[in-house]
Amino acid sequence: MNSNILSAEKELELINNHTRTPLTADDVYTFTLTLCDNEIDRDFECFSLKSLEKLCELFVGKTGIADHSMLAKDQTARIFYCYTETDPAKKTTKGEAYTALKARAYTLRNESNNDFIASIDGGIKKEVSIGCAVSRVTCSICGKNMKTHSCEHIRGKSYKGKLCHGILEEPTDAYEWSFVAVPAQRNAGVTKSFAPGKETPMDTSEIIKSMTQDSLITEEKAQELYDYIEKLEELAKQAQCYKEHLTKDISRFAGIIMPQVNTKQFTKSCMDMDLDSLKKLRDDMQKQAGEIFPVSSQIKPSANHAKSNNKDFII
Ligand SMILES: [Zn+2]
Repeated sequence: MNSNILSAEKELELINNHTRTPLTADDVYTFTLTLCDNEIDRDFECFSLKSLEKLCELFVGKTGIADHSMLAKDQTARIFYCYTETDPAKKTTKGEAYTALKARAYTLRNESNNDFIASIDGGIKKEVSIGCAVSRVTCSICGKNMKTHSCEHIRGKSYKGKLCHGILEEPTDAYEWSFVAVPAQRNAGVTKSFAPGKETPMDTSEIIKSMTQDSLITEEKAQELYDYIEKLEELAKQAQCYKEHLTKDISRFAGIIMPQVNTKQFTKSCMDMDLDSLKKLRDDMQKQAGEIFPVSSQIKPSANHAKSNNKDFII
């Protein structure tokens, strides 16, 4: 779609697709938003024109809030129509005609929305943050999907005069949008957050690569990296705990099934094993110990009780 010319009647009809009781023109306040565009943003990413067209469909019906902090729940607005708008006279960094994804949104005219409406009218609330999911981030230099493959190119660096950036393609979902104070996209005033809440492993190699090659890391990315490392450290702690727990079991069972072996030395050598092998060894030993002492495996047997074949566990 490349047109924002809709009659007032048509707009009201579209708005009423989203309401339980039909609204009249007097009930609603409508306004235009710029959601995003095809310019390369501060993260060295840009939407392809095809993505913008797809987002046109995905953002219809999505609600936004005026601000993260101050507004009540009913002070929301909903997008009822999206379109792309191309400015042929304006070129993006990569030489495409500048194209923005525009949205028409409405909010209810009522007492509690007066300030909200006034701030939009006054041009205060212009910057919008959007959340969407894309399945591809194509490297502009080699065409690889940077989400699933790592290539040698670094976003923000130039290769033979060509700026490397990620092209955001194949949008799969659009989430909410909201007005924010600080825009990320240079022109549209947009910050993006892709697939919020989704736990995807962080591409630390990409970040580290960019740091070692002397390019800048954004404060945001650095924070992301710290958070990620913190999370990993916590997981590592838990894994270590589990490993110690398994080793304790193994030491206990070793005392039962091979009392003549130096248990301390044996369990020490277990600490170098990976979790899977350790767990398998524990399970096997538990079974063996259970055969010797079906009721309780807590008591260390006397030497003549131990009839097992130790060879299985000598490593
Ligand atoms: Zn590449």
